Amino acid sequence: MTKEEREQIATCIREEIETLRETVARLEDSAKTVDLDQPIGRLSRMDSLTNQGISGKVLAESKRRLLGLERALANVDDEDFGHCEECGEPIPVRRLLIMPEASLCVDCAE
Ligand SMILES: [Zn+2]
Repeated sequence: MTKEEREQIATCIREEIETLRETVARLEDSAKTVDLDQPIGRLSRMDSLTNQGISGKVLAESKRRLLGLERALANVDDEDFGHCEECGEPIPVRRLLIMPEASLCVDCAE
């Protein structure tokens, strides 16, 4: 991996982190606004519960990805960054740009 590629990946990670932080903040906000004691109809209550369930899943997934990205950003300058944890082979830069938090190569991830 060249210095330029490493910098490109780091930029990618920072942008992703920023987007995810906004997503997490928005979802946490919308989770708070569902008040179960409010006298709303049974159907709309079920609706909001379903929506809450979905955004809860997205929220958990976003938080998990955020942690992975923060870890990737902390390690991006390491000699080992971009090498598969399983087989030690370099992970293609193409893959790292799409999924910077990947710690396994495509073969080992499968
Ligand atoms: Zn591997």
